[in-house]
Amino acid sequence: MSTPSVLRVATASPYDVVVGHGVLDRLRGLLPAGVQRVAIICPESLEDLLDPFADLLDGLDVVVLQVPDGEEAKNWEVAAACWEALGEDGFTRSDAVVTLGGGATTDLGGFVAATWLRGVAVVHVPTTLLAMVDAAVGGKTGINTPAGKNLVGSFHEPAGVLCDLALLATLPRAELVAGLGEVVKCGFIADPRILELVESTEPEALTADSPVLRELVERSVAVKAAVVAGDLKERGGVDGHPGREALNYGHTLAHAIEKATDYSIRHGEAVAIGCVYVAELAARAGGLAPELVARHRAVLERVGLPTSWSGADFDTLLATMRVDKKSRGNQLRFVVLEDLAKPVVLAGPSEDDLRAAYAALQGS
Ligand code: MG
Repeated sequence: MSTPSVLRVATASPYDVVVGHGVLDRLRGLLPAGVQRVAIICPESLEDLLDPFADLLDGLDVVVLQVPDGEEAKNWEVAAACWEALGEDGFTRSDAVVTLGGGATTDLGGFVAATWLRGVAVVHVPTTLLAMVDAAVGGKTGINTPAGKNLVGSFHEPAGVLCDLALLATLPRAELVAGLGEVVKCGFIADPRILELVESTEPEALTADSPVLRELVERSVAVKAAVVAGDLKERGGVDGHPGREALNYGHTLAHAIEKATDYSIRHGEAVAIGCVYVAELAARAGGLAPELVARHRAVLERVGLPTSWSGADFDTLLATMRVDKKSRGNQLRFVVLEDLAKPVVLAGPSEDDLRAAYAALQGS
C-alpha cells in the first residue's frame, strides 16, 4: 500500500486518474455520489479477482457482467447482452458501470455505458499496462464490426480511472513489455524524461512493484491527459501541435501490421515497429537527426520490443494504411517528430520516402 497519486484530466467534465500500488480501496471514491447500482463488466479470465473486488462495493447493489476475453468481447452481440442485463436490473441514469480488465474490456464497457440511457457513469479499473496508459484514459469507446476494428463507438469520458499497479503482478511479462511500447511513445512525443528513466533502469527491474514503473505510468497518463484535455474529439491542436492525433505516433503502420498478422501481434509491439518506421520516415521527409532515429531503436530494444519487421510486402501495408480511419480523404497522414517532443503532422509524404523508410525496417 502506498500513497496514491491523483492526476486530473481537465476536460469539460474533469475526472481523476488515481495511480498507486494496492489502491483498489479508492474505487468507491471515484463513483459519482448517489450511485445505487453498479454493473462490473469483466472478462471471464479475471474471475478470480471478482470477489475481493465486489467487496469494495459493499452496500451497493452489484451485478457482474462476464464477457469474453480480449477482442472477442468487442462486438454488438456482447454489447446487446450487457444492455439486456442492465434492463433486467432496472439500471437508471444515476447508476454506474465499472470495467475491470484490459483495453478491450475498457472499450466495450465504455461503449455500453455511453449508450445505455444515452450515457451512464463509467469508472475504469485497467488490469494491463497498455490499458492503464492508453485505453482507460481519454474517453474513446467502441466495438468492432466485420468491416474493421473500432468502427462503431463514441467519446464517453469516464467518471474516474483507477490504476492499481498491484494488478500487474500476474500480467505475463510479454504483455507488460508490450505496454511499454505506448509508454516509450509518450516519451518521444511529449516527455523525454520517460526515455531517460527507461535508459537508466535495468529492464528486468520494471516490475509491478517498481517505483520506476509507477513513475512511467504516471508520466504517460499525464501526457495523455494533457493532450486529451486540449482536444477531446481529435479535431486538432493549436500552434502546429497535432493535438490528440499526436497519440497516434507510430500507429498508422502499426494498424497495418496488426491487420497483416491477423491481429496475432500485440498492439504495443506493432506500435514499437511503427515508431521506428515514422522515425525513419521523418529522417527522410523532414530531416530528423540520425541520433534520434537511433534512440528509437535503442530504447525500444532495451525493453525487449521489436524494431524491425518484414512480415508483409510494402504494397499490402500501403493499401491498408490508405483506408486507415485516421487518414483524411486520399492523403496519407503520419505524426512524425520534428525534434524530440515536437510532433507534427506529415501529410502526403512521397511514396519513395514511404518505401525507403520501410526498407530501413527490414533489419540492418
Ligand atoms: Mg495505441
